[in-house]
Amino acid sequence: MTSREVLERDPIGTVASITFTGCDLLAATASRARTPARPAARGKARAKPVAARRDVTATGRRREVVVGGRRVKVIDVHAHCVIPEAQALLGLKTDVTRGPGIDQVGPRRIGEMDAQGIDMEAISINPAWYRAERDVATQVIKIQNERLAQFCATYPDRFVAFASVALQFPDLAVQQLVEGVKKLGLRGAAVGASVAGDEFSDPKFHPFWAKAEELGVLIFIHPQSTPDLARRLKGNGWLANTIGNPLDTTIALSHLIFEGTLDRFPGLKICSAHGGGYLPSYAPRSDNSLRVAPDMDTGVKLKKKPTEYLRTMYYDTLVFTSEALRHLAAEVGTSQLVVGTDHPIPWQDKSVDHILKAPGFSNAERRAMLGETAARLLGVKL
Ligand SMILES: [Zn+2]
Repeated sequence: MTSREVLERDPIGTVASITFTGCDLLAATASRARTPARPAARGKARAKPVAARRDVTATGRRREVVVGGRRVKVIDVHAHCVIPEAQALLGLKTDVTRGPGIDQVGPRRIGEMDAQGIDMEAISINPAWYRAERDVATQVIKIQNERLAQFCATYPDRFVAFASVALQFPDLAVQQLVEGVKKLGLRGAAVGASVAGDEFSDPKFHPFWAKAEELGVLIFIHPQSTPDLARRLKGNGWLANTIGNPLDTTIALSHLIFEGTLDRFPGLKICSAHGGGYLPSYAPRSDNSLRVAPDMDTGVKLKKKPTEYLRTMYYDTLVFTSEALRHLAAEVGTSQLVVGTDHPIPWQDKSVDHILKAPGFSNAERRAMLGETAARLLGVKL
C-alpha cells in the first residue's frame, strides 16, 4: 500500500488535509479501518460481496480516494462504450483505436478505473443513429439500452448508464427514456449536441425535455463535432474534435439559453461534457451581445441573464489544468461540477488528481466534485 499526505490551503486559510491512498486487496481492510466515515460503504460492500470480490481479483489494485479523512466515492459521468451488435445495424464497425476496450465493460476497464481512483462510471454511447430510419433506430436503441442495463447489473458497484434515445423521433425518444429509466434502471439519457442538423431548442424536442424534467433525470450532452464546418476543420490538429467538439457544445447550450428552452423547463438537469465547451470560458459576452446589437433580438424574453443559466447546469471537469478548473468553477459554481474522464479515450487519466491538486477548493467542494454531486444526480447511494 502506498499513501501520501498533501496539505493545501483553501482561500480562507484553513489547512485542508488530503490523503491519496492506493490499496491492494490485502491492504483494503486496513485502509477502511483507518478511515472513520465508512460505515455505509462497508455495509454496501457486504451487501454485494460477489461483485466486489470479482472487481478486485480482476485488477489486484484499487486506489481509494480520501479527502479530509473521508472516503469519497468517485463517480465519472463521462465514459464511453459501444455495442458492436448495434453498430453493425448502422453499418458501422467498432473503432477501438481511440480507446481499447471501448466495446468491453469488464475487468480491463475496471482495472483502469481502479488505478485512477474511479469508483463508478456512468457509461454512455455517443449517438450515431440520428439519421437512421425509425425501425432501425428502434432496434439499435433497444439493443443498447438492454445491454447497458445488463452491464450495470453485472457490476452494480461500478457502473450506472445513460439511456440511448432516438431523438430524431421525439415521441419515440420519450418512450425510450421512460422505459430506460423505469424498466431498465438507467439514470438518464446521453444525447449529442444537435440532432441531424436540428437544434435542441427546436420546439419539436419540447416533449423530450418535459419528460426528462418530469422524471428528474440527468441528460448528458456530448458533442459530435460541428459537421457544418467540416471543410474548415480539415488538416493537422484533429480540429474537428479539438475545437469542433467544444464548439458544438457551446452552440447547443447557447441555443437552449437564448431560445428560452431553459426558462420553459427550469427543472431540467443538463450536464455537458468537456467543461461545457467554450461557453464558460467566454460567458460574459453572452450577457452583452443583445445590448450591442438590439436589432438582432428576435423577441425571446429571457427570465435571467444568459450567464445565470450557466449556474443551473452541470459540467464535467475535463478541462486539463488547475487554472481552467478554477475559471470554470468561478463561472458556474463548484456545485455544478462532476468528474469526467472520457474513458477509455485517453484524454485524461488523472481526473482525480486534477481535482485534488487544484488550489483554492475546500474539502467539501472537492468531495462534491469528485462524487457527491454526481451521486445525487444519478441516484447513486453513497
Ligand atoms: Zn467523450
